[in-house]
Amino acid sequence: NRDAAAQQHLLDRRKRLLGPAYRVLYDTPFHPIRGEGVRLYDADGAEYLDVYNNVPSVGHCHPRVVEALSRQAATLNTHTRYLHETVLDYAERLLATFPDALSNVMFTCTGSEANDLAVRVARAVTGNQGFIVTANAYHGVTASVAEMSPSLGAAIRIGDHVRVVDSPDSYRLGTANVADAFTQSVQEAIDSLTRAGMKPAAILFDSVFAADGLFTDPPGFIDGAIAAVREAGGLYIADEVQAGLARPGAHMWGFERHGIVPDIATLGKPMGNGHPLAAMIARPDLLQDFGNKTRYFNTFGGNPVSAAVGLAVLDVIHDENLMGNALEVGGYLANGLRELMNRHEFIGDVRAAGLYAAVELVSDRATKTPAASLATRIVNALRDRRVLIGLCGAHGNCLKVRPPLPFTKTDADEFLGILEEVVGGLAT
Ligand code: PMP
Repeated sequence: NRDAAAQQHLLDRRKRLLGPAYRVLYDTPFHPIRGEGVRLYDADGAEYLDVYNNVPSVGHCHPRVVEALSRQAATLNTHTRYLHETVLDYAERLLATFPDALSNVMFTCTGSEANDLAVRVARAVTGNQGFIVTANAYHGVTASVAEMSPSLGAAIRIGDHVRVVDSPDSYRLGTANVADAFTQSVQEAIDSLTRAGMKPAAILFDSVFAADGLFTDPPGFIDGAIAAVREAGGLYIADEVQAGLARPGAHMWGFERHGIVPDIATLGKPMGNGHPLAAMIARPDLLQDFGNKTRYFNTFGGNPVSAAVGLAVLDVIHDENLMGNALEVGGYLANGLRELMNRHEFIGDVRAAGLYAAVELVSDRATKTPAASLATRIVNALRDRRVLIGLCGAHGNCLKVRPPLPFTKTDADEFLGILEEVVGGLAT
């Protein structure tokens, strides 16, 4: 048919022009042309429920963000070496959401750059070379953080100065054992660095371990590992690119769940609601030392338009109580997913924190064997029913449920209803 032919044409064109390294989602690629709130629309006007996208954090094309962006773009945009109040207003407002100890911000355009900069700072201020990351981590596209991103699989060579520790898999380890297991893995990594004549510059992990499969419990389980790294002279870098900015519901930032303040936090995706805006937040003594040794210029990072956008996003989060919504609707959604687990053998575990949930599919609850192809079938079947989710976890067997923050209980009911039908259909 004509639609299929048109789609194939776009795919061919994409491959011819962009090369083979890119991947599209879903067996039938999705081609949205408009978005609003938690809904996306294709060229035929068909409506899709977005239960996946965290980048449009305050909702697709939020009018206040669009207005702020347009107004500043129509007034002035420059590189970042001139004076501008909006940038400082935004810095102040953003830093106010962090513990007092984290009182400096440096702006970038992407989470990758924020992590890359954090790596540079950690090296410069500790004088150490080693880094510790988790088994299925993703930290970005630059050469230095790609070699700290085991989730890239065979496509990447993990750096000789990088040690990879087991995911804090609460499902398989048992919640009560996560803290000890994680601490032990990290201690072994430190010992391995020592044997190679290195010390840790930092441990770097996603505050909710999203790519590893979303592991958030028990709160505080990172304590021993962080203490060990600090004892060995390294820093704690919290990657908040996915975890943070009101999504945790109970907190603004993912690390707050564990009650430990990082030395550096890196932010990205949701900050600009789609506009490329990211940042590194750090203790000022670290940046003093870094600044004494080197200088930093990022042409686009934290320009006036980005700052206006970032401010508007913070305003909307506040005015629409999106953090409270993440807590309430996230809890409601997680309960619904747990009820589904009670009815379906192949849902082995449901893990959630705020408006972020993972549903782990297994072929056998006793052995906890990952059921990746089943997970892929569910994601594609949902896409055919016009509901968008994704996958996470080392085996790609966890449904990743991560909607824009204005997701309502009605949206959750709609999602749960369709998921139940899809899952029920697969079981029979
Ligand atoms: N860290 C984490 C945890 C991420 O999920 C991502 C993006 N998927 C990045 C860093 C890199 O961010 P960006 O794509 O903006 O460079």
